[in-house]
Amino acid sequence: MKILVLNAGSSSQKSCLYDLERLPTSPAEPISKADIDWHNKLLTTKTKEVKSTHKLTEDRVSGIKKMLENLWQGETKVINDLAKIDIVGHRIVHGGDYTQSALITPEVKERIRSLIPLSPNHNPSHLEGIEVIETILGTVPQLAVFDTAFHTTQPPEIATYPLPYELSEAGIRHYGFHGISHRYCAGRSAELLEAPLESLRLINCHLGNGCSLAAIKEGKSLQTTMGFTPLEGLMMGTRSGSIDPAIPLYLMREKGFSAEQVDTMLNKSSGLLGVSGISADLRAVLAALKEGNQRAQLAFSMYIHRINSSIGSLLPVLGGLDALIFTAGVGENSSLVRAKVCEKLTFLGVQLDLEKNETARGDQIISTPDARVKVLLIHTEEDWVIAEDCWNFLKKA
Ligand code: AMP
Repeated sequence: MKILVLNAGSSSQKSCLYDLERLPTSPAEPISKADIDWHNKLLTTKTKEVKSTHKLTEDRVSGIKKMLENLWQGETKVINDLAKIDIVGHRIVHGGDYTQSALITPEVKERIRSLIPLSPNHNPSHLEGIEVIETILGTVPQLAVFDTAFHTTQPPEIATYPLPYELSEAGIRHYGFHGISHRYCAGRSAELLEAPLESLRLINCHLGNGCSLAAIKEGKSLQTTMGFTPLEGLMMGTRSGSIDPAIPLYLMREKGFSAEQVDTMLNKSSGLLGVSGISADLRAVLAALKEGNQRAQLAFSMYIHRINSSIGSLLPVLGGLDALIFTAGVGENSSLVRAKVCEKLTFLGVQLDLEKNETARGDQIISTPDARVKVLLIHTEEDWVIAEDCWNFLKKA
């Protein structure tokens, strides 16, 4: 089965193609991967043998078409014909009430469109990808795999904001994001711990450009730090995370900020970038910190503190903790972040093996053998989850 996965962001469009004869138990390697960087208008395509880069000169739709052309033409060709693709899976950031992946129909597209006000940076790019596939591949089945779906198991007392109830009925509630990653890491942790997922109480720390934690019990998400939008919760690269909700009101009333300016400030110029004044990339913040930069130190300390205080806030719903998982760009690569977070959690029974933490590469347990709470490092595989859902969907169909 040939499965094309599209993952559209506001500034990038990624794709990969899997060619599967059966569904393996661990993630397969795609036969082709492509990445469009819309800022630099650069398309990079990689196969096992070849890496090519291509400057895009036309509009976004033509760019996506070019990305697909590279699958069957030129030096990165891996299939004879685009018609060989059996199904296309899309990562969809905001899926509202969808509790599981859905075959894309005109109604599903309409629902994704209706959620644009809640996800203005992502849902339009997803629709763009879906429509390009419709133009090029006609009636090939397309599956929407939602980042929000995994968190629809949050109980009402967690999913509801303490606002007038009519607002909750109008859809203003705690959705949560990064669900594809949280779901994958939960399943993978059960494999590493050799325990049934249903028996585990987990906190998954997805720390990338965007950051969120999820409290997962019996394989279900019970609470997550992101909410109505991906702005709530932890301090992130450029996003503030949770702040006093009166701050935007004060800025608008007293300082003349427009709604657009507040939006840009909270989403694009806060977080690590805003506090440090250096970068949204933790590596650059840490380099400045090493040279004694005070604001870099403050930004890093806040980043760690906010992870720890959020871990604390997730414990009651779990009633204890069996494993703490680190994943995504920062979680997988920064031994310092893992060490600093775990340092404050020894009272819970978290005991990091400091040497393993330093040298760890790939999925593994990095706590000491006798630690009451295990610490895991897991490379997240969102594309693979989408491919698996596609496989299962076509097999069932
Ligand atoms: P992601 O969104 O999962 O792709 O994560 C991207 C982020 O991971 C980047 O913005 C970096 O800040 C961060 N990152 C990647 N490698 C490292 C590293 N070695 N140390 C600290 N942060 C890293």
